Amino acid sequence: MSRLVVVSNRTSDPRKSAAGGLAVALRESLEQTGGVWFGWSGKLSDDTEGGAADRHGLEIHTSGNVTLATLDLTRDEHDTYYVGYSNGVLWPVCHYRLDLAKFDTRFAEGYRRVNRLFARKLLTMLKPDDILWVHDYHLIPLAAELRAAGCNHRIGFFLHIPMPPPLIMAAIPEHEWLMRSLFAYDLVGFQAQSDVTHFSHYVESEARAVRVGPNHLRAFNRTLQVGAFPIGIDVEEFARLARAKEGREMFARMRDEYSRRRLLLGVDRLDYSKGLPQRIHAFRQLLERYPENRDSATLIQIASPSREDVGAYDDLRREMDSLCGEINGDFGELDWMPVRYIHRNVARKRLPGLYRASRVALVTPLRDGMNLVAKEFIAAQDPADPGMLVLSRFAGAAEQLTEALLVNPYDTQGTADAIQRALVMPLDERINRHTALADRVRKENVRWWSESFLKALAETEMASGKT
Ligand code: UDP
Repeated sequence: MSRLVVVSNRTSDPRKSAAGGLAVALRESLEQTGGVWFGWSGKLSDDTEGGAADRHGLEIHTSGNVTLATLDLTRDEHDTYYVGYSNGVLWPVCHYRLDLAKFDTRFAEGYRRVNRLFARKLLTMLKPDDILWVHDYHLIPLAAELRAAGCNHRIGFFLHIPMPPPLIMAAIPEHEWLMRSLFAYDLVGFQAQSDVTHFSHYVESEARAVRVGPNHLRAFNRTLQVGAFPIGIDVEEFARLARAKEGREMFARMRDEYSRRRLLLGVDRLDYSKGLPQRIHAFRQLLERYPENRDSATLIQIASPSREDVGAYDDLRREMDSLCGEINGDFGELDWMPVRYIHRNVARKRLPGLYRASRVALVTPLRDGMNLVAKEFIAAQDPADPGMLVLSRFAGAAEQLTEALLVNPYDTQGTADAIQRALVMPLDERINRHTALADRVRKENVRWWSESFLKALAETEMASGKT
């Protein structure tokens, strides 16, 4: 069996309990094959200290039979590759926010430089039979850099965020280079079918790609396989968290605290893609159009701090502070506040209890690659009395979770009506919808995701890369 080499912006130790979804997904394959996980250490080296070679030494740790290889970045590399290009250009554009993108050639240069650095360092670790899986928007040109240095390995890429339609992608000055770079991979996976469609349209219209099979595109002298591989959650780990002491205590506390109320819940990073101000507007509309919810419905909105070094996030924080303050000022009573807004991270182990105590989850991003909170909410419900999911049609998860109440988050009134429908939905309808949703979340879990991707990548061997 080939050794798996995973490359992502950050690594995490798959054995640690707070390792996160990707680590859980890849743990088995990494352990079985004695794999390597390569990425940025999260640390900055001193720009002024030593020569370039010293600054970029690899740090190697082992965890069981998995090797974690990391390198530090300089302040300049961090500011251009990570903050400037990844989070200041690619993130907003892929989430359709051209207005927030900061195009600057220095960022593009830094992005390319760090990808080249990753390629150079990674090459020193590769064995002939390795299979490489590169993750996410930070590393789009990595395979092209590896190929330029003579690497012939099978390399797959998975984009965790959305692929925008061609004319939005075309706003990035380097769009052609980025999309051409993707053809250096053997397999490119997206979260949703809509992403595959956008990518296919882009290369057909901008690069005259031709289809050479149901999932194969040919352009730039290479054949590339593409596909949708929707990422899932670790349902078993989630069930374990729900059964654990803290999960049960959280559930009991929330249930008692809100026994007279109907609890609505939002759990997001404080990110402009999540549609948080629109959600507060929709909740306000709910209280106006359906006054029976006053003094009764409470929205807990958790917004965990995120990317505070990017300016747009600061504006959003102020907007949320002000919107939540207004709604509480206008509708609040001495013994009831409509919104509990928490700008802090809530520990993962406390979330299942919170999800289970909630009647309705509001997952209403303006654009989202997948959205795992939607799946976690479903996994945490009591099947005999499940809560209802109100889900944006613009989340990748909407392609799978069709029995949720799908909404357009830009339509304030439509979203308020859907929230009301979720709040008053009869038990038998809730059970029917939940049964179908839970079944899919269980089957299409995180292991199914990584296995399907790696299987497709292994099978691309003969199909692509042949110029
Ligand atoms: N999360 C958490 N604590 C918080 C907020 C979020 O543990 O306070 C977790 C949440 O359970 C989920 C992840 O962070 O697993 C967010 O993933 P999602 O796909 O919903 O959005 P992303 O942040 O990746 O855009």
